[in-house]
Amino acid sequence: MKRRQFLRGAGVGLAGTAVAAPALAQAQPQIRWRMASSFPKSLDTLFGSAEQIASRVSKMTDGRFEIRVFAAGEIVPALQVFDAVQNGTVECGQTASYYYVGKNPALAFDTTLPFGMNCRQQNAWMYYGGGLKLTRELFKQYNIVNFPCGNTGAQMAGWYRKEIKSVADLKGLKFRIGGLGGQVLAKLGVVPQQIGGPDIYPALEKGTIDAAEWVGPYDDEKLGFHKVAKFYYYPGWWEGSAQLSIYVNIKQWELLPKSYQEALEVACAEANIHMVAKYDANNTAALRRLVAGGAQLRAFPRPVLEACYKAAHELYGELSEKSPDFKKIYAAWSKFRDDQYLWFRVAENTYDNFVYSVKRPAAAPAKKG
Ligand code: CA
Repeated sequence: MKRRQFLRGAGVGLAGTAVAAPALAQAQPQIRWRMASSFPKSLDTLFGSAEQIASRVSKMTDGRFEIRVFAAGEIVPALQVFDAVQNGTVECGQTASYYYVGKNPALAFDTTLPFGMNCRQQNAWMYYGGGLKLTRELFKQYNIVNFPCGNTGAQMAGWYRKEIKSVADLKGLKFRIGGLGGQVLAKLGVVPQQIGGPDIYPALEKGTIDAAEWVGPYDDEKLGFHKVAKFYYYPGWWEGSAQLSIYVNIKQWELLPKSYQEALEVACAEANIHMVAKYDANNTAALRRLVAGGAQLRAFPRPVLEACYKAAHELYGELSEKSPDFKKIYAAWSKFRDDQYLWFRVAENTYDNFVYSVKRPAAAPAKKG
């Protein structure tokens, strides 16, 4: 009898626990955020990645933490996402930090620097080389918490109406370019223009600019640059990779339940892998279509690359003198980069050079039926 009572009692206890669990889950607040993206809806890589993050966060929180994503210009202009998050106009944003080097040149490290690290090395720096810690300290000045949320991989150098055969051909070129690359090219006579994604094509079409770079074949094809400038140059040495970032207003971040913070962090890390995978998977076919449609592929001559490399490092010296933030991060970043080069030159580079250059056997001929 006593035992049965005990069991019944335990049963009640268990039932009580079972009921309590959903009640606890319901106690998690319903939170709705707005995310301003710097990118247009037509780019399923960049804008699509922000939507993927929002969708994953919603699913991981049973629909309790909902983020609505707005394309460039819908509620915030493409290049004002930083300000909107800093001021709390929106809770979060998706952008590239090098758009804001006018505020602080050190913000470039959160995207890339000309002749900077490749995608693998950037991730190594951010997650395990102190990059996230250093950039978070920097962003704290602006009430922002930053998360790596994607990467383009090495970019193309964009679309030109005229060929660039020597350094002299850069003189007077009105060129749309993001980040510190414009400041490097300005030393060689280029007139750099910072223009948001949706506004580049009209500027190139009208002739307001002579050339424009964006990302690479898959995005560039969608933006239609090949219709108005046929020389397609590589490599985009100002973006040996380019990291995208999610910005969160620090006050809003601190108000989030811990589990929602984890969900957002996990979704950003996932997007960081998926974006470059999507670019890599789609760029080949897009490049084939562009070339079939008349795009003329051109590599920058080595003397042009060497002049740009020299100008870039002059700029880093100047920025280190002007900006304590830049100086501090550049010292750590360049040391990490040099160490990465040491390692990558051994196995990765030797392997890559061999497999890209070796004569591959012809594909087996189709069987005759
Ligand atoms: Ca670019």
